[in-house]
Amino acid sequence: MLSTTALLKVIAPYFKKYWKILTIDLIASALTTVAMFFLPIILQQLTDYGASGDLTARVIAYLAGVFIILKSIEVIARYYMTNIGHRMGAMIETDMRRDIFGHLMTLDDTYYNENKVGEVMTRVTNDLFDITEFTHHAPEEYFIFTIQLVVSFLVLSFINLPLTITIFIMLPIMLFVSTHFRKRMAEAQLNQRRQIGRLNAGVEDSISGIRVVKSFANEKEEIDKFESGNQKFYGIKKHFYASMAGFITVTTAFEGLMYIAVLTAGGYFILNGTMEASDMIVFIMYINMLITSVKRIIQFTEQFQKGLTGIQRFHEVMTAVPDVDDTDNTLVLENVKGNIVFDDVSFSYGEDDEKVLDRLNFEIKEGEQAAFVGPSGAGKSTIISLIPRFFDVDSGEIRIDGHDIRHLKIHSLRDNIGIVQQDVYLFAGNVKENIRYGKLDATDEEIYEAARLAGAVEFIEALPNGFDTDIGERGARLSGGQKQRISIARVFLKNPPILILDEATSSLDNQSEMIVQESLKELAKGRTTITIAHRLTTVEDSDTIYVLTDEGIIESGSHEELIAQEGYYYNLYTRQ
Ligand code: ADP
Repeated sequence: MLSTTALLKVIAPYFKKYWKILTIDLIASALTTVAMFFLPIILQQLTDYGASGDLTARVIAYLAGVFIILKSIEVIARYYMTNIGHRMGAMIETDMRRDIFGHLMTLDDTYYNENKVGEVMTRVTNDLFDITEFTHHAPEEYFIFTIQLVVSFLVLSFINLPLTITIFIMLPIMLFVSTHFRKRMAEAQLNQRRQIGRLNAGVEDSISGIRVVKSFANEKEEIDKFESGNQKFYGIKKHFYASMAGFITVTTAFEGLMYIAVLTAGGYFILNGTMEASDMIVFIMYINMLITSVKRIIQFTEQFQKGLTGIQRFHEVMTAVPDVDDTDNTLVLENVKGNIVFDDVSFSYGEDDEKVLDRLNFEIKEGEQAAFVGPSGAGKSTIISLIPRFFDVDSGEIRIDGHDIRHLKIHSLRDNIGIVQQDVYLFAGNVKENIRYGKLDATDEEIYEAARLAGAVEFIEALPNGFDTDIGERGARLSGGQKQRISIARVFLKNPPILILDEATSSLDNQSEMIVQESLKELAKGRTTITIAHRLTTVEDSDTIYVLTDEGIIESGSHEELIAQEGYYYNLYTRQ
């Protein structure tokens, strides 16, 4: 965890944009306190006038008038604080959320393999809410508290210094001890939430496995297991209530002590003539105000902590760096022919992991149809994820049309590569929108043409609303083959010179596979194509087939050549 100062520095830039609003907000928060400060003094005046017999209707009207003006100021200030102050928090939240989402989009597989989606989503929503609450309340609350302390100290010490000092010695002690108990309450609360989570998981486990429980007649065992968690929960609650009792006792006791000090010492000062009776009113009311504020600040400390934790988590996401970076690149890939060279490429996923690719060499010429086959785990998918730079090579280089891909602008590289995968991801929305994802400015005619080329028009037009049919969550309403044809239409629309087909038909039944295969053949025309396939029949027509095993590329050539060699490929082929 970063230090509080470091965390505040993380969000400081977000305040910068709104410094004017923040300044007015702080002034407004200061103005909300004026009526509170003057009320005791107004009452004191009233009492003094009353005691001396000088009280007139004019005096009352005058004092009431002053109070009305002060309260009106407070009302306006409060309106500003509640409305604009909160809005500033929301604006900062919106800015931060935009930044965090933008940054999430730059991160890649490596990050998302290590961080659960749910967890990341919490950061974008809940954590940011905690930060928003923090962003405007923290400056306001601490500012108001400071003003209250300073003003009360000045006013009270003007009335009676020794009594004021006594009170101001007690205040920090109260603040310190109460905060201690309050912290313990917060910890217990957190434990309680965790324990409830564990209990729930246990209940779910036992109930989901109820048949197993019954069949082994192990009900007693389950009940015992549950009871131990249940007792633990009770233990935590006990601790929580003990802390709560401590908190309440301490605050109440200190409140009492302060009032007693004012009553006895104040009474004594009145007796020896160093203090007026009406001053007592000022003291009592100020102390009341201070105690209320101390309680608020203690409560706010929790929110403050939550906000800091939120900032810490925000910071963690924002400082995660994408694996591949192109910020210093200027080279834009244009008029691509599609010549791909792997030159002595080695790669492993992690520093300690085994090498997946070890000094791999091959060249796929412009417009060539290449295929990789071999046992699973040999590194076929790895090869093709290196071409769009989803990962970077450890050594050696990959060149497209002679350019090391690490020198290219990533956008220009990926714009020239089309990928059709086994898992099709369709976004929420209709068919047309999903195809348009391949080229955001495509016209309806272009989309229709792409769908036609992908062999998808027939089934799309049979859908209830044709191209405007809502696809449903992740395309739940479409069959695997239909989804695949939509994803192929997308690539037709993108029209890239390089095409990667990663087990594109593996999960389809024979009938759908045949149809999709037709579409793919159409798509591959005139493009440099790299295919990975399980079923060898789908790659028979390739210009070059590479057989990849743990030893690297052990055979390559056309289907006929490889069959003639009677090697690995021949065995694989005859077995299938
Ligand atoms: P193939 O496509 O030939 O089945 P892969 O390229 O998927 O092989 O995998 C090659 C090796 O790399 C396997 O041992 C696999 O476990 C490992 N591997 C694949 N993806 C990752 C990843 N994201 N992180 C770590 N290891 C991986």
